[in-house]
Amino acid sequence: MRVNAYAAPAAGQPLAPTTIERREVGPNDVLIEVQYAGICHSDIHTVNGDWGPQPFPVVPGHEIVGSVAAVGTDVTRHRVGDRVGVGCMVNSCGQCTNCRSGDEQYCTEGMVSTYAGTDRDGTTTQGGYSTHVVVDADYVLTVPDGIEAPAAAPLLCAGITTYAPLRRWGAAPGKKVAVVGLGGLGHMAVQLAHALGADVTVLSQSLKKQEDGLRLGADAYYATSDPGTFEQLAGRFDLIVNTVSASIDVDAYLGLLAVDGTLVNVGAPPEPLSLNVFSLIGARRSFAGSMIGGIALTQEMLDFCAEHGIGAEVEVIAADQVNEAYQRVLASDVRYRFVIDTSTLT
Ligand code: NAP
Ligand code: ZN
Repeated sequence: MRVNAYAAPAAGQPLAPTTIERREVGPNDVLIEVQYAGICHSDIHTVNGDWGPQPFPVVPGHEIVGSVAAVGTDVTRHRVGDRVGVGCMVNSCGQCTNCRSGDEQYCTEGMVSTYAGTDRDGTTTQGGYSTHVVVDADYVLTVPDGIEAPAAAPLLCAGITTYAPLRRWGAAPGKKVAVVGLGGLGHMAVQLAHALGADVTVLSQSLKKQEDGLRLGADAYYATSDPGTFEQLAGRFDLIVNTVSASIDVDAYLGLLAVDGTLVNVGAPPEPLSLNVFSLIGARRSFAGSMIGGIALTQEMLDFCAEHGIGAEVEVIAADQVNEAYQRVLASDVRYRFVIDTSTLT
């Protein structure tokens, strides 16, 4: 099946319309007619070559919402017409300890990324900036009623990537959580941490988005460009979720943690980060990382969002605005996720 898509032809090149081949629907596959695809900063890192060589042309997109157009003979969980989602992962071995414990993203064989990955049949995966996608049914999520489709798309990456560490490190009533960076991931982290009952602080480069941050559920908002912020908040937080796409001064942020506090990095800048171990030793602090989340946890997150009326704040764009949107994301000028209306992929 030949379908319309938007692809980056080479590293750092603008995306352009193209067509790609989608595989035949196998016994355990679902054919999805894509309706919306979110633009994640990871798409930009990938096509810009920040994370190393890629199998160009690359069709990005791992925040996919659409409707089921066909199912394979063995599929029972999804039916034609269902509203479904696909995130960053479209396959894994299913057998290793991590897959069996619901951490398919840490599959010892390597999870199969939704785009620029190598699928189990040896083909290169292509993502959601396209009209249709064929995905193994076990990696297809149910998008509950009650979340608008465009607002649901970013949950498939930005939502689960922030929900997973918040749950893992116990964001709950009585816990003080800081979110660094109010972009796509950050604005989900604020809403989710607030809904989980934590006391939430946004640490943003400036106070430009303060009103939004407080409306999204933050209890406090500080500018990291103000050195006074780091003095005022020293030792305050149980958990800091860093969503920044660039390098940060890790020691400065570790200094904001209470004893036993954890700084979890979900932001994935290309350069190594360094830290002074005394920033950890002095208060038994931890510096951790976290990558998306397993399939069951992703479904839990979607259901949690529906229950709490949570969705992404989105700017819906046509496919031919993708390159412009990339520039705006790079300039931290996104409120708070661009989502492509894939019906514009004519
Ligand atoms: P985004 O929408 O661009 O948000 C990043 C935010 O970081 C910006 O809005 C900005 O917030 C802040 N920021 C940007 N440049 C900065 C700089 N030079 N110094 C300080 N702050 C800066 O990006 P996103 O889609 O949320 O993704 C964020 C990062 O997470 C990316 O690196 C992405 O690849 C990564 N990611 C990781 C996972 C995972 O599984 N671990 C999953 C998805 C994405 P303010 O304007 O508020 O300062
Ligand atoms: Zn992403």
